[in-house]
Amino acid sequence: MADDIVFDKSFDLVPGTPKEVAPGVRAIVANNPGPFTYKGTVSYIVGHGKVAILDPGPNDDAHIAALLDAVRGETVSHIFVTHTHRDHSPAVPKVKAATGATVYAQGPHRLARPLHTGETRRLDASADMDFRPDVALADGEIVSGEGWTLEAVTTPGHTANHLAFAFKERDLLFAGDHVMAWSTTIVAPPDGAMSDYMASLQKLARRREPLYLPGHGAPVRHAPRYVQSLIRHRQGREASILHRLGKGAADIPTIVKAVYIGLDARLAGAAALSTLAHLEDVVARGLVETDGPPSIEGTYRLLERPRAGA
Ligand SMILES: [Zn+2]
Repeated sequence: MADDIVFDKSFDLVPGTPKEVAPGVRAIVANNPGPFTYKGTVSYIVGHGKVAILDPGPNDDAHIAALLDAVRGETVSHIFVTHTHRDHSPAVPKVKAATGATVYAQGPHRLARPLHTGETRRLDASADMDFRPDVALADGEIVSGEGWTLEAVTTPGHTANHLAFAFKERDLLFAGDHVMAWSTTIVAPPDGAMSDYMASLQKLARRREPLYLPGHGAPVRHAPRYVQSLIRHRQGREASILHRLGKGAADIPTIVKAVYIGLDARLAGAAALSTLAHLEDVVARGLVETDGPPSIEGTYRLLERPRAGA
């Protein structure tokens, strides 16, 4: 199913060393590589002289020191956060303390939907529950500094509070974890939601920025076309899941085994949650039914005739 997307796995940043990746944008990668973070979280410095830092990254003293070193002699006036995963926002308090900058984000970490009875907050370990922005941004809000203007673009799905930021002067978009060149995005309930994620992709598909700078991996080039391929990929994934249900598969482990061929064992849990995200969406749309709210242990049935208006 992944053959419709051409992933760009290239990456040439080295932890601790800033590099200009677009005019007026420097990138520094944290040394936190892994199956979900790829080569590590990429923090961005926007502008020169009086600058903003976007996604300060994990609470890693070496990375924080490298970031502060990169802006030595400059003033950091703003800190922007795309979302509250532990690889993106926990460096904020130390960077704020060192710079006095004001922190902008959509809001604290929150779930995409209420917890079902008996459901645990299984993703708390990956979330920065302590984060609070100084300024909460709504969709379309503009924040300007010296030589740069950023527009907040709400893009829920990976997390409920995810923001992308359009850099107006440079015609590029800081995409956070919503759109990345190296991989698809994890959409895991209850923090994330597939219906939100798809709507956020459709929203970006209507934009024109050709270049995206993501939270992990290399820049995304020809971004509008790439966003279309991500939409098609998820539609294909949904079709595969519906097809498997039609063939009698009824639970998530069976569907994952059939749909995710050659899956990295470390990503099995993520694949199960991603399948749950699709199932939540198709149940809400009346294509599939299950007993009670969709759950990871649930049994699912394809409906012969979709329930209208479900
Ligand atoms: Zn994330």
